[in-house]
Amino acid sequence: MHELSIVKDIFDTLEGHYGARVEDVQQIQVTAGLLSNVQPVLIQNAFDAFIAENRGYAEMELEVVVNDIVAYCDVCQQNFPVHYHRFVCPCGRSSSTIVQGNELYISKVIFKQEK
Ligand SMILES: [Zn+2]
Repeated sequence: MHELSIVKDIFDTLEGHYGARVEDVQQIQVTAGLLSNVQPVLIQNAFDAFIAENRGYAEMELEVVVNDIVAYCDVCQQNFPVHYHRFVCPCGRSSSTIVQGNELYISKVIFKQEK
């Protein structure tokens, strides 16, 4: 399953970065562009399945932020929002220069408050 491997990658990254402190993470926020082929519901389900199998992570929460698609118009030299996968600038030119929408990354890590 595509989403489960993404979740594993996320935890591999976190473990590589924070080591044993990963178990003190309260919430992670993942930002996914609309073109990244990540379904927030599916990644949430994969995350829930993953933490259910890994006791140390039982209380961890996931938030998925979805980024809209933004493209760049050479004529206007400006970015414009892409709706319904129509890569056409308000000026009428089409553009396939994607500025935002392909990304998938861990955008925030919140640790539990120290007791
Ligand atoms: Zn334009």
